Amino acid sequence: MRKSGSHTGGCLCGAVRYRVTGPSVWKAVCYCESCTRAAGAPALAWAGFEKSRFELLEGGLATHESSPGVLRGFCARCGTTLTYQKNPAVLNGAQDDVYVTTRSLDDPGAYPPDEHVQYGERVPWLHVVDDLPHHEGVSREHAHRQLATMTERK
Ligand SMILES: [Zn+2]
Ligand SMILES: [Zn+2]
Repeated sequence: MRKSGSHTGGCLCGAVRYRVTGPSVWKAVCYCESCTRAAGAPALAWAGFEKSRFELLEGGLATHESSPGVLRGFCARCGTTLTYQKNPAVLNGAQDDVYVTTRSLDDPGAYPPDEHVQYGERVPWLHVVDDLPHHEGVSREHAHRQLATMTERK
């Protein structure tokens, strides 16, 4: 695995292409209502990067502000859920890290998750059994980077 290399990814139709350059600051599968409703899926795996490590190569991200200061990026043509980013100007103390959905990477196994977060919000039929930590809410590391404001709105 090229942990410090760069990886490209994009949406299903190919209109949006991006590159991230390792390392990731945080990797997790999220089950929160906001992520899962946005994607129409029961879970979303994310890898976060410092903003300078994310680069759009082709196309543009359409965005939806799912809660104040939280921007979710997607392809306007095919709808693929691609990014998540906080606006520190709106959310005091938040990092402006860019998260990408790891399934949108050309190598979706490049940044495997370290933990499950917001596991308590999962749909009732879903049970994930593996050796990773399952956090009902968010992990300390997650909270540390102020990534948890979907449940800590101001
Ligand atoms: Zn697309
Ligand atoms: Zn989430």
